[in-house]
This record gives sequence, structure tokens and C-alpha cells, in this order.
Amino acid sequence: MKYLLIIAIVLLILWVARSSRRPPPPPPARPDGKTVQQPMIACAHCGLHLPSGEALPGRGGVFCGEAHRAAFEKAHPLE
Ligand SMILES: [Zn+2]
Repeated sequence: MKYLLIIAIVLLILWVARSSRRPPPPPPARPDGKTVQQPMIACAHCGLHLPSGEALPGRGGVFCGEAHRAAFEKAHPLE
């Protein structure tokens, strides 16, 4: 009976480890076969266009990266 419990625990650990390693599901496919397009937005500092999902929101707009957000906030201090 003791071994049965150990086997059950090992199986549970393996199951948890496997389910947590599973890659994220792919984005939902549309009937026409095209992938869902994210709207393009411009970085408030350099004007670079990038998908809205990759943009960093910040004070004064969205930015292409942490460096540009910091530079913009430095150039436009509060007050
Ligand atoms: Zn930028």
C-alpha cells in the first residue's frame, strides 16, 4: 500500500512537470487562413512603427523599447 502511494505521487509530479512545460497555444486561425494582424503604432520617441502587442506603454504614449521610454520621460519631465 505504501508503494502505491509513492507511485501515485511520482505520477502526479511527472504530470505536473509535463503540463507546465507545454508551449503556449498558437494564435487562433481565422477561416480565411490569415493570421490576426495587430494594429501598428508609432513609438512616441523615434516614430518607429511596431505591433501594438510589442509596444511599451509609458507616460506620453507608447514606445519601442525601455530605452526610448526612459529617454522620452527624461526629455519630458513631469510638471
Ligand atoms: Zn523608439
